[in-house]
Amino acid sequence: MKKALGILIVVVILAGVGLVLFAPPFERRPPQIQLPLSGSYISSRAALNVTIQDRPTGLKDIQIALMQGEKSWSLYTAAFPLGTYSIQIPLIIEPRKLGLEEGAATLLVRATDRSLWNLGKGNTATAKVQLIVDYTPPLVELLDNTRYIYEKGAGAVLFATSEDATEAGVQVGRLFFKAYPKKSKKQILWAALFGIPPYAHSQEARLVVKDRAGNTRMFPIPFHLLPRKVVKVTFPISDAFIQRKIYPLLPPKDESLPPIQAFKKVNEEVRQQNEERLSQLASQSSGPCLWKGAFIQLRNSEVTATFGDKRTYIYNGKVVSHSIHLGYDLASVAHAPVPAGNRGRVLFTGFVGIYGNVVLIDHGLGLTTLYAHLSRTTVKEGQKVRKGQIIGYTDSTGLAGGDHLHYGVLLSGHPVNPMEWWDRKWLRERIMAVLKPYIQGEKSVQANGKR
Ligand SMILES: [Zn+2]
Repeated sequence: MKKALGILIVVVILAGVGLVLFAPPFERRPPQIQLPLSGSYISSRAALNVTIQDRPTGLKDIQIALMQGEKSWSLYTAAFPLGTYSIQIPLIIEPRKLGLEEGAATLLVRATDRSLWNLGKGNTATAKVQLIVDYTPPLVELLDNTRYIYEKGAGAVLFATSEDATEAGVQVGRLFFKAYPKKSKKQILWAALFGIPPYAHSQEARLVVKDRAGNTRMFPIPFHLLPRKVVKVTFPISDAFIQRKIYPLLPPKDESLPPIQAFKKVNEEVRQQNEERLSQLASQSSGPCLWKGAFIQLRNSEVTATFGDKRTYIYNGKVVSHSIHLGYDLASVAHAPVPAGNRGRVLFTGFVGIYGNVVLIDHGLGLTTLYAHLSRTTVKEGQKVRKGQIIGYTDSTGLAGGDHLHYGVLLSGHPVNPMEWWDRKWLRERIMAVLKPYIQGEKSVQANGKR
């Protein structure tokens, strides 16, 4: 009997110890802390995320501090109610305001859970990561740029930056034109093609250069803007045209719209969506310059519309809609073979609403050409094409009244006047003269000449 009682007491004690050791309130697993990447660069303002989880008991409190040398700044401290198992803390760090110096700093996170382990103090996890404070924007030297740019036309810019630059381009109003880097000794050489599209909302161009901390250096690119005349065209719209061309381009939910609303929907909303899609596709252009010499035009063709034409649409004697034409319309015989404007790689083939069947060709450095309203294409995405290689045949797919080619030139996805790129003299003097050191990989250049 005594022996049995002894066993029972031992079992009870063991069970008690087991309860303490293994039951959830006494668990020994510390919180899991997820920090930003080690070596992350931060400038005068940085947004970072810290994620902390704890199971099964949940989080009790968290402290986050930033340390540099002997100094320390508390960034965050909080206690949590029962049942907080996971939290993402968005930290806004302003090192300059805090008084940090350039160089390394340590982000320290301490989190405690609700376990009763450690005499009820819980499990504490600490984690730290090194951040690098950098207030100095990259050094930028403007080497050369096109000095005379036509309205709606294009220009080129060549510049060098210190090695810390990670991203650069040209800002024109709300539009951004990407610059492409080439590493050389102790600096980076960059080239960008940019333009002044009709909808840029600004005719000034600024160079924008960023480093990995987000420090930005910006300054204006000096050039003279030359006027180009605007063509205004009026289009009468008939019911027959709306039936034949507009209704097929409407999404199914809008098929019952009355004719004029249907026309406005396609000419305004669908047009904008399609142009955004083409812009997005064309902005995927890659770095290396693939084109050589002037671009070529559809053979034996007549120009029936030019770039930037302001179109007004009339229905039953009333103005109902407007648009801006973002390419050249070239009419030849029906189903005329369409040549690639220059050497490049096929970026996209497919149907894009009012543009019908299209081909986009990437020529590098952000430059793409667009071929629209095609009947069919004879090339595949990713395929390399020679200048003049037949890529498809003209037709009137999409919003086209008759068989023609709509030809566009886009820089970083933004349309510019294609006519300039057919002009050998313009291309040589205004663009290639600026890009030459970049294409040839020379180390330095001298700005010269009237461009
Ligand atoms: Zn067109």
